[in-house]
Amino acid sequence: MSEIALSVNNLVVEFPTDSGPLRAVDRVSFELERGTIMGLIGESGCGKSTVAFALLNSVPTPGQIVSGQVDYPGVGDLLKMSDEAQRLFRWQHVAVVFQASQNTLNPLRRIDEQIRELATAHRMRDPKALLERADSLCRRLRLDSRRVLHAYPHQLSGGMKQRVGIMLALLLQPDILVFDEPTTALDGLSQESVLQIIREIHDEEGLTGIFITHDLGIVSEVADTVAVMYAGRMVERASSHTIFSGPKHPYSQALMNALPRLSGDPHLARGLRGSPPKVIGDQFKCLFRDRCEYRMEVCDQSEPQLIQVAGEDAQVACFLHGKEVERVSV
Ligand code: SF4
Repeated sequence: MSEIALSVNNLVVEFPTDSGPLRAVDRVSFELERGTIMGLIGESGCGKSTVAFALLNSVPTPGQIVSGQVDYPGVGDLLKMSDEAQRLFRWQHVAVVFQASQNTLNPLRRIDEQIRELATAHRMRDPKALLERADSLCRRLRLDSRRVLHAYPHQLSGGMKQRVGIMLALLLQPDILVFDEPTTALDGLSQESVLQIIREIHDEEGLTGIFITHDLGIVSEVADTVAVMYAGRMVERASSHTIFSGPKHPYSQALMNALPRLSGDPHLARGLRGSPPKVIGDQFKCLFRDRCEYRMEVCDQSEPQLIQVAGEDAQVACFLHGKEVERVSV
């Protein structure tokens, strides 16, 4: 039986605005199985990066986790831990590789000095073991450890800094690694090299992770399962194979239709009209309805819940699935 590494329940994150609290993450729930990578996709501003911050209880101010649980089985609900317990928890149990890892590196310290500081922050008396692991991880990540560990961040290329970010994230052997758009700022070659390394670590060590991106091509290469977010809500979850071979939610379908074609007419790729709404407070209706070509009366009157699609390994939040409704033209 599969083991659950992370369970998120009814997570709500809000940011205050002059018009009222903006709902960046709206009752998001999911489980992450150990040894799998879940791709979290959606347009910019859909809340996927806010979910990443919430997994470490580090939502940037003035954002706030209003309700929900972030439960790491065997450890407990992160949101109920003391500040000191949370500080020790981060990086040891869950670590994040951000889009611009160079921004998380201290420009005034050599990489090996930053590793020593990490050892001190995590109460390790002797940083030697950590430096030895850094040396071995560097080789794994195809970095020249003698050069990289003694370098200042500005002496490394963008691709090297991103691999250093992955090395630092792996250093304390966390249970879960969250990749937040880790390849977006890289050129094509560096991007492919970083993806290959992630795939290798996943295949050889059973890496458990969440890969956040707006790039469907990338997610199809690394993810075992995929969750689609729209306007703060999770609207579809399925295995990677299922979602790429037949997305159920009209928004997921639109994302796939927007992908450029490698064969046939390239103009068949269709952009998605309109933009996602800014959600202020509770909205008990489908948030995709203004952009949906299948909109029905019920979509304006109630909120579709994420339900299991009969006979498939997919969950979808859309009235087209699992409920008999009369379709009306819009
Ligand atoms: Fe479209 Fe209605 Fe489904 Fe929303 S619930 S995606 S508006 S069909």
